[in-house]
Formats: sequence, structure tokens, C-alpha cells
Amino acid sequence: MTRSRTACYIGIGANLGDARTQAEAAIAALAQLPDTTLAAQSSLFRTAPVDAGGDDYINAVARVDTLLSAEALLAQLQALEHAAGRERPYRNAPRTLDLDLLLYGEERVATPTLEVPHPRMTERAFVLIPLLQIDPFITIPGHGPAHQFVAAVSGQSIQKL
Ligand code: AMP
Repeated sequence: MTRSRTACYIGIGANLGDARTQAEAAIAALAQLPDTTLAAQSSLFRTAPVDAGGDDYINAVARVDTLLSAEALLAQLQALEHAAGRERPYRNAPRTLDLDLLLYGEERVATPTLEVPHPRMTERAFVLIPLLQIDPFITIPGHGPAHQFVAAVSGQSIQKL
């Protein structure tokens, strides 16, 4: 039987060290994941931290088409974060690399370790703007068209690089 691939959107953020290089390396690493192809990537964006201190972030969104389950994909993302040397001394601490599973096809997942769609994605310009750059008509399961959330985040600073 041939399994079909699921279109997934990954949020990428970095704000420690050479954040731009970290974000670009993360996108290259997503292209190398098993049973996965990189289908699209947004521009890089510079954003001010939300609910966190430290330097500006570099953010992007990538779409991957994958045969991996949502849980297996999350495990791969966490391995990439770990490989990037992420330390978590406290909540919302600056991080070398943060990878969030934003959307896994049309699916909704709610387990102790994984919530999809990502619960805060509709509140964050650094997710919505790159996501809509890739797919202006993207719909967030349970929420509707992503573009309808942009007006509410217009106060958040975001600059396309
Ligand atoms: P964060 O600080 O955003 O990197 O949160 C990481 C934690 O969030 C991990 O323990 C994950 O199991 C959990 N988590 C829940 N849903 C998601 C998601 N959609 N993407 C990434 N991490 C998630």
C-alpha cells in the first residue's frame, strides 16, 4: 500500500548566536528528514521577542510533505533542536533553535506532548506572516482561514529580511 504524504508546516525561531545561520541550517536539516521532502520555505523575518527577553528573533515557516506520523515528526524536530545546542534554563529563555509543529495536514492532535494546530499560532505575527507568505489561503483546523488573524497581531514588530 502506498501511504500518502501529509503537508505539514513548521515554525522556526532562533535568537541566540548567529540566529540567521541557525534558521537557514534548520531549513536545510528539515529537507534531510527521513521520508520527508521540503515543499516550501518562507523568507526569513526579524521579530521582536513576544513574552520573552533577549535579542530579536529570526523566524521562518517551512512546509514539509512527510510520511512520518505527527509524533515521529515532533521527535525529529526535538532532535534538531537538541543538536543545535538548545539549553532551557527557564521558561521562554532565549534559544538557539525552536521548532514548532504548527499544522499536520487537516488533523487536530491533543496529547500530553503534542497539540496541533499549535495552540498559540493564531496570536503570533512571526508565525502568521511567514505562513501566509507560503500559502495565502491556508486554513487552520478549528479556527478557519489564517488571514483573518493578521489584523489582531498588527502591533507586533516583524520585518522581512
Ligand atoms: P517550546 O517551548 O515551544 O519548544 O515547547 C516544547 C514543548 O511543547 C515540548 O515538550 C512539546 O512536547 C510540546 N508541544 C506541544 N505541542 C507542540 C507542537 N505543536 N510543536 C512543538 N512542541 C509542542
